[in-house]
Amino acid sequence: MGRHIWQVIILLALIVLLASATASVTRAPGSEPAFSAEDSTPARVLLLSDFATPEPLDFTAIMARDLKLQEEAAQRFWSAFFLDFSQLYECMDPNIYHRFGDVWDVFTQTEQGFARAALEAAKTVAVAYPDSDALKTDIAIDLPWRQLAGLYCVYGTRLHTFLEESLTVEIQFKGERLTSLRVTLPDFFSLAACGTANDAYHARMAYFYLNTVFADGGEYSPTLYKKPELPEDLMAELVPPLPYIRSRFVRNTWGEGRSRRTRLHMGTDIRIGQVAIFSCSDGTVLFSSYNTVSGNYVCVVDARGYEYQYMHMRELSPFVKPGDEVRAGQQIGWVGTTGNSIANHLHFSMVTPEHQYLNTYYVIRLLAQRDLWSKR
Ligand SMILES: [Zn+2]
Repeated sequence: MGRHIWQVIILLALIVLLASATASVTRAPGSEPAFSAEDSTPARVLLLSDFATPEPLDFTAIMARDLKLQEEAAQRFWSAFFLDFSQLYECMDPNIYHRFGDVWDVFTQTEQGFARAALEAAKTVAVAYPDSDALKTDIAIDLPWRQLAGLYCVYGTRLHTFLEESLTVEIQFKGERLTSLRVTLPDFFSLAACGTANDAYHARMAYFYLNTVFADGGEYSPTLYKKPELPEDLMAELVPPLPYIRSRFVRNTWGEGRSRRTRLHMGTDIRIGQVAIFSCSDGTVLFSSYNTVSGNYVCVVDARGYEYQYMHMRELSPFVKPGDEVRAGQQIGWVGTTGNSIANHLHFSMVTPEHQYLNTYYVIRLLAQRDLWSKR
């Protein structure tokens, strides 16, 4: 700005000089001057005040003010945000998730109610700040009923607190004007991973179960009893999970009632002594833990996104831990009878990349014919 002042001063000086020079050149003695004093006034239009330097910007002060506004707005959001999950808690026992199909609409309404409450809270915030009519509101909450139900199996009546704590509220201001408000909830798999390994495993199992057994509207899924179709190249890569499999000890128990008929069986049981369990596939260990239903279990996910579950192992796997890379045919445990089991057997389940269980009876029957040792 200082430079402008000098430019203006120089310009004014030049004009004055030029004016006097011209005047002196054109003014003949005795004649009227060609320019009156008023004629040189256009230079005065350039007011120096137009070039006044503004006060320097204090970014620290501006940032502090914006943060304060953001904090205020966030507090407003939270005080306006109200969740009512009572309908859900009244009608569902989180332990009997096979009945969730009957109340799928309660879960759907709960998810919608959650998103609606967030939107209402966002509106309340907007009203508090003037000139915010161009406010961009984005409520990114997406928990289809089977996923919400999966989380409910783990969190029960603590679900709404858990979801509230998982929400992120991003608020942006331009000056005093609120310009955008974004409310985000992490996706199901991130939410499932928030608690212990067993919580994550449980929530995922429940979701996979509901996704396999029930269609969108809560009715039985038309694909429930369909024979699975696996990619040929995948089947070519798999090895048997046990050193030998006698077909008379493998029955097709897919879909049979279990736990007093509160759930359907989602895998294949192979009766066998306490022999080694091998990973069927290359992949990464997702879980290696214990719970009262699966006993000691190991889950492996392959590069295609297929998940392999091995249950009731004699002990917690001394061979692998979560995050380990495994090769097909690598030992991951010993057969046992831990968890919900009355005799030594391997329960083997597979989950597709679309998050549905498939009937592994057909997979096991095929793998049983394979010579395990030729591949190992
Ligand atoms: Zn089983």
